[in-house]
Amino acid sequence: MQVILFVGPPGSGKGTQAQRLAQELGYHHLVMGDLLRQEIQAQTPLGLKIKPLLEAGLLVPDQLVIDLISQHLREGANYILDGFPRTVPQAQALDHLLTQKGASLCAVIALDVPEEELLTRLLKRAEIEGRSDDNPQTIQRRLTEYRLKTQPLLDFYEARSLLRRISGLGLISDITDRIKKAVQMC
Ligand code: ADP
Repeated sequence: MQVILFVGPPGSGKGTQAQRLAQELGYHHLVMGDLLRQEIQAQTPLGLKIKPLLEAGLLVPDQLVIDLISQHLREGANYILDGFPRTVPQAQALDHLLTQKGASLCAVIALDVPEEELLTRLLKRAEIEGRSDDNPQTIQRRLTEYRLKTQPLLDFYEARSLLRRISGLGLISDITDRIKKAVQMC
C-alpha cells in the first residue's frame, strides 16, 4: 500500500495535477475538500458543523478531518491524498494511521506558485465556477491559513527526505511530467 501526498496553496493546481497523476499510476485520488463538500451537500451533522468554516475560508478542526480520512482509507489500496494533511497534527495522525494499515508514505509533492499568480488564478476561477469560497475576502483567508498552518508541513516532510518541490508554473502537461519524474520510485 503506497501513499503520495499533494500539498499546495489554493490555486496551485494540486487538484488537477493529483488527478492526472492518479490516472497515470492507477491510484485512488482522495480529495479532502470534496469529502467535506459532500458532507455539506448531504446536510449530515458534520456537514452542518463545517459549512460556516468552509464558507469563511477557515480550516476545519483537525480531529474532524482525521476521522473522515480514516473512514475512507482502505487497507491494501494505493492513494493520492489531495488536501490532507494540512497541519502538522494532521500529518502526525496520518503517520499513525498509515503504520496501522501497513502503508508507506512514498513522496510528498509540494507545488510552488507565487502568491500573485495564485490570486489571479483564484479570482478567475471565482468568475467561472462560482464556488462559494472563491471570493476576494475568503481567498485571502485561505492563503493566510495556508501560510500559517500548512507551510510548516513542508519542513516536517523535508526533514524526512520525503518532500519534492515542483514548480506549478507552465503547461499543465509539463508540470505533470515533472511530478512523474519526482515519484518514479513509488
Ligand atoms: P483549496 O485548496 O482551493 O482551498 P479545497 O477544496 O482543498 O480547496 O479545500 C476547501 C476548504 O475545505 C478549505 O478552505 C478548508 O476549509 C477545508 N479543508 C480541506 N482540507 C482540509 C484539511 N485537511 N483540514 C482542514 N480543513 C480542510
